[in-house]
Amino acid sequence: MFDVDKALDLWRSEALRRALRIQSVVLDASREFLRRQGFIEILPVIISPITDPLTDHRVRGEVECYGFKYQITKSMIFHKQIALFTHPRIFCFSPNVRIESIERRNSGKHLIEFVQLDLEVREAKRSEVISLGEELFRFIVIAVREKCREDLEFFGRKLDLPESPFPQISYREAEAKFGPDFEEKLSCSQKGPFWIIDFPMEIREFYDREDENRPGILIDMDLVYPEGFGEALSGGEREYIFQRICYRIQQKGIQLEAFSPYLEIARRGLFPSAGFGIGIERLTRYLCGLRQIELTRLFAKLPGEFSL
Ligand code: AMP
Ligand code: MG
Repeated sequence: MFDVDKALDLWRSEALRRALRIQSVVLDASREFLRRQGFIEILPVIISPITDPLTDHRVRGEVECYGFKYQITKSMIFHKQIALFTHPRIFCFSPNVRIESIERRNSGKHLIEFVQLDLEVREAKRSEVISLGEELFRFIVIAVREKCREDLEFFGRKLDLPESPFPQISYREAEAKFGPDFEEKLSCSQKGPFWIIDFPMEIREFYDREDENRPGILIDMDLVYPEGFGEALSGGEREYIFQRICYRIQQKGIQLEAFSPYLEIARRGLFPSAGFGIGIERLTRYLCGLRQIELTRLFAKLPGEFSL
């Protein structure tokens, strides 16, 4: 069960104290950068009848209120698209709960509760949010290098400032060069962050937009950290046409009813958009050069472990 002494050692540790200081600079810098870019911060949604399906091993977290069934947010993807009715550029520090499989307990990368900096831009193309992601990342690195010199020294971390544009490789190219589990190998082989683009439709969720000129290929991307730190963010252009969304949902073998409130909105017309979500704990992990994700936030919950 809960080990109080172990938890106290962690809460009093120098590593956690310094990692959280770096994280605090990350939060400030992200807000400052995005405000300058004309973004509005929206508040997170914790429960909703709709959330990211993430059609894999992850269990659905559900709560019942007044006889209505709500799901605990796995990501705010649909709420971001809907928020664009109110404002054209939005971001949110969104808490996500994903009940990851127990095999991921020692991956160093997986928590069952984490926070994404999730943003969406009305009428944007992928290239625009790729540039935005690069500038955001560079802004954060500059801020951390400037404000957290002693903390970086403590971690023995020399943070390079990558030049924009970051390299890009397509999913198919990466797979051909490095084999099916290429992310880890590619990440280990790189010195700076890089993009994987054009994921095949079958391995992503239904909301990433299919390229009209290349059936089965999505206009989406992941940013990957170097040195084996792995995935930093996922994003892309979104499906926004009602019939396309219905088709993509059905292709995944999901009943349309599961998304009926979202589909009612899409029928009346969603904006075209693009965006991404970057995990804050993983970003902190990379900046600090830490291998254990549980050192990047208070009350970290590893798959399979009981925690506060
Ligand atoms: P995804 O929608 O799965 O691509 O998640 C967006 C981002 O959130 C990822 O690129 C990671 O940075 C982060 N993330 C996803 N799952 C987890 C997890 N289980 N623990 C910590 N961070 C995560
Ligand atoms: Mg992802």
